[in-house]
Amino acid sequence: MIIDGKKEAEVLREEIKKEITSIKNKTNKVPGLAVILIGDFVPSQIYVRNKEKSSKEVGINSSVIKYSKDVSEDEILKKIIELNNDKNVSGILVQLPLPDQISKEKVINSIDPLKDVDGFSPTNVGNLASGYDAIVPCTPLGCLMLLKKVEKNLSGKHAVIIGRSNLNGKPIAQLLLKENCTVTITHSKTKNLKEKCLKADILIVAVGLANLVKKDWVKDGSIIIDVGINKQGDKIVGDVSFEEVKDKAKAITPVPGGVGPMTIACLLKNTLECFKKLN
Ligand code: NAP
Repeated sequence: MIIDGKKEAEVLREEIKKEITSIKNKTNKVPGLAVILIGDFVPSQIYVRNKEKSSKEVGINSSVIKYSKDVSEDEILKKIIELNNDKNVSGILVQLPLPDQISKEKVINSIDPLKDVDGFSPTNVGNLASGYDAIVPCTPLGCLMLLKKVEKNLSGKHAVIIGRSNLNGKPIAQLLLKENCTVTITHSKTKNLKEKCLKADILIVAVGLANLVKKDWVKDGSIIIDVGINKQGDKIVGDVSFEEVKDKAKAITPVPGGVGPMTIACLLKNTLECFKKLN
């Protein structure tokens, strides 16, 4: 089974659009997403443009606040406080990476946790780790939703995660623990990685190395979620050798068209959830 992330994201976006239309008809209010974009890094500009377009399509009132790359940290923190207090803003996102003069930690800490649609603030990270209600980072949430399309009950499964970033590996591990999986987190210093992967019922790969996971790393009948995005010539590929692994796995996400589309759809979902909690 090839897990069709594009289709699942479309279904999710339709659900969100329906709910926002219904809220608007009843209250004349819609969720608002404020995105701060600093500098002229081209991938960030593309991500922000896609987020803005998708937000508008589902009825979210999206605004992008742009700054030049030499903007001061103070100015950004002041803007975040203003957005925290703005009743029309339900979600705040600061596009990463940031220029050197701006502390990522200070920026993330200054966003109201109730408006933290990326789920990066210590409050949301702590709530997720404690098993409490939390805003979950978009890509990990998308991974879980795709996994659940294949298997509703993940309890007792052995999940192996390659990658331990705050963005992907760690929150994915927390989500899977909450689903009662047995979780192994691996990283660049892990010994005998192939042997560990061979024990996985669920293998999540979030590294950023093309073709890291090969056919002989994968257990028959496992579910594979490939988070990686790598440029190979003019093609985008994941971290898993898709062609050779796809017939061995029970289910696998392709790249592109797997986790990627779910990430933006989950941002819209988080924005709607924040709006509902705030109103
Ligand atoms: P990251 O912060 O660079 O983390 C990469 C992780 O992989 C680290 O934990 C690193 O280990 C580990 N690693 C590196 N080389 C390894 C190796 N040879 N064997 C095992 N582990 C290794 O990356 P990230 O932000 O999590 O992103 C990972 C990938 O996902 C990237 O390709 C990124 O573009 C992609 N991504 C996709 C989406 C999406 O929507 N699909 C969203 C975000 C990111 P150490 O901790 O020991 O360094």
